[in-house]
Formats: sequence, C-alpha cells, structure tokens
Amino acid sequence: MKIFCHIAPATLMLLPLLCATAFSQAAPAVTYSPQELIQIAQQMREQAKNSGAVDSGIVEKFLDSSTIVASRDRDGQAELHERFEDVFVVLQGNATLVSGGTVVNPRTSAPGEIRGPSVQGGVRKSLREGDMAHIPANVPHQLLVQPGSLFTYFVVKVPVK
Ligand SMILES: [Zn+2]
Repeated sequence: MKIFCHIAPATLMLLPLLCATAFSQAAPAVTYSPQELIQIAQQMREQAKNSGAVDSGIVEKFLDSSTIVASRDRDGQAELHERFEDVFVVLQGNATLVSGGTVVNPRTSAPGEIRGPSVQGGVRKSLREGDMAHIPANVPHQLLVQPGSLFTYFVVKVPVK
C-alpha cells in the first residue's frame, strides 16, 4: 500500500476511471510464438495418428474464429473461397503455392467453398519459412508439398463483404 502514498491525489482520483477503461474487456490478447504454433501442430499430428483417424495429410485447428494452425505432409486440394481471403505465414517447411487459373473439376464442398483435384493454368510460387501469402477471395489456389516433408503454417481467414 505504501506505493499509493507517492501517487498524487489527482492521479488517485483518476485510478477508478483508468481501471474501468483498461480492464473492461473480458478476454485479454492471445499470443503465440512460432515455436508454440509448431508445437500445437505436432501435437495435432500425434493425436491424429494415435486416434487412428484416416490420414488426409492435413491437420488443422481453429485457434479462434478466424485463425488456424495447419500442417500438411502432401499436396492439398485445389480450393476457392468465395467469402474469405486467406492470409498465411509459413512456420516450417517448404511448399509450392499455385494460384490463379481455374479449379479442375470444381465441386461445392460447402456454401461458398469450391474444391477440386488441381489448379490449371495458375502461377507457381515457392514458399519457405517466414514467407507470407495473401490469397484474395475467388482466386483458385493449391499447396503442393513434397511427400514425406512437413509444411506448417498459420492462417488468418478474412471475411469479405
Ligand atoms: Zn484456402
């Protein structure tokens, strides 16, 4: 309590106001280091393996309503999101991002979500640790991952209007 003796009376009067403003939000910010995200992905892979779940090559988890940590060990499907942009940062490994062009044999997997086996006529970009990608809505894209290697990334899904 001694410390309060050194606070000017005017500041003391402001304290309740400052506290009310500073602490009115219920949930504090959540932070992760790249290592923590990689560890989460590793744990997910272990759990998937132990549960005997069919291995589709990808594990992913929503950390909150718009962020995902994902890890894959082989090519992904071609994707197109009508209602979201994908923004992601590579945490671990290498991949080739194919984007643009068209989705081959497109099918609707969920409202606004198109999937297919591959992207035709897209641009290929190599991605490695630390790289960032921004995929606008309605742009076909696919991640190609060397079989046996591991590609881990942190995704932000940005809704579009
Ligand atoms: Zn996507």
